[in-house]
Amino acid sequence: DTPRPGVGLDALPLRENLRGKSAYGAPQLEVPVQLNTNENPHPPSAALVADIAEAVSAAAADLNRYPDRDAVDLRTDLAAYLTRQTGVELDVDMVWAANGSNEILQQLLQAFGGPGRSAMGFVPSYSMHPILAAGTDTEWIPVDRGADLAIDVEAALAAIAGHRPDVVFLTTPNNPTGHVIELDDLRRLIDAAPGIVVVDEAYAEFSPSPSACTLLAEYPAKLVVSRTMSKAFAFAGGRLGYFAADPSFVDAVLLVRLPYHLSVIAQAAAAAALRHADETLASVALLAEERKRVTAGLESLGYDVLPSEANFVLYGPFVDAPRAWRRYLDAGVLIRDVGIPGRLRATIGLESENDRLLQVSAELAGTEI
Ligand code: PMP
Repeated sequence: DTPRPGVGLDALPLRENLRGKSAYGAPQLEVPVQLNTNENPHPPSAALVADIAEAVSAAAADLNRYPDRDAVDLRTDLAAYLTRQTGVELDVDMVWAANGSNEILQQLLQAFGGPGRSAMGFVPSYSMHPILAAGTDTEWIPVDRGADLAIDVEAALAAIAGHRPDVVFLTTPNNPTGHVIELDDLRRLIDAAPGIVVVDEAYAEFSPSPSACTLLAEYPAKLVVSRTMSKAFAFAGGRLGYFAADPSFVDAVLLVRLPYHLSVIAQAAAAAALRHADETLASVALLAEERKRVTAGLESLGYDVLPSEANFVLYGPFVDAPRAWRRYLDAGVLIRDVGIPGRLRATIGLESENDRLLQVSAELAGTEI
């Protein structure tokens, strides 16, 4: 670690609950094979790039004006897409958009968490959930998953009953394990929750399992389903996340969102990307096939691979996962050490990238690592 300039964080009057915390830190390194942040490896098509450029250029003519604060046109397009993708009829009043689903989750915690309130998650899961809880001064209650790293529903129900959290996070497919939660289990967990339940479906398009959107009508005052264009949509750089819920959840986040949070540029680019949804999402099927191939390849090398319905796999065992991670990096393959002893997570990439992952995995499989 290089010494940082300045007086040092300890010299600042930082809020107590942020002292000693680490920032989100997926390494951003220039290496040939980048399989560490669960992006879609297929770049946008030339036609999509041209459409985005045209839409942004048209939008730029009005940059002296603030954007539509409520992003109504974009939310209408998102609602139409989500209706098609989930089979659940959703209209613009039930959809809210922000800069990535991270901002969506933050807005939900600003409205429903905060001082004196708590949020529960089933770990290991997405590392931003506790960071967003800390940022909004929401008490974070981590509950361990089962030994197989799938959610242990009985233990989860007991933890919800014991702690009565204001917010419950359920991630399905879960990052970093890839597990999905069955709808019946979701129902039991939502029934048990005294507050709101945020189902984080960042990877939903990669999974054949039904969306939690199918439960929205049953739980209008409890359930929020969070989605993103960062993963399947190949729009990570565009920063566009959204949620589906009863319209009153939109009224709730309107109280905490920053005015004009979604720029004219972001709204125009996302709308253009949505017009190409079918073409972009065709790559999802390819990635699901590649996930099967990578899983089989790793298994044939003797690795244990968790069953994943996302665009990544968590596998091991490694004697020393941080050291194995370094060996992959030295070989030009950036994957992710998510802090689970003995396991690493690899995003599914292009065929050639996956070949390289398997090659390095084969080299390591023969060693004491
Ligand atoms: N939820 C989960 C489970 C994720 O893995 C991620 C991205 N790693 C996000 C939300 C946030 O993504 P974004 O802010 O790009 O929408």
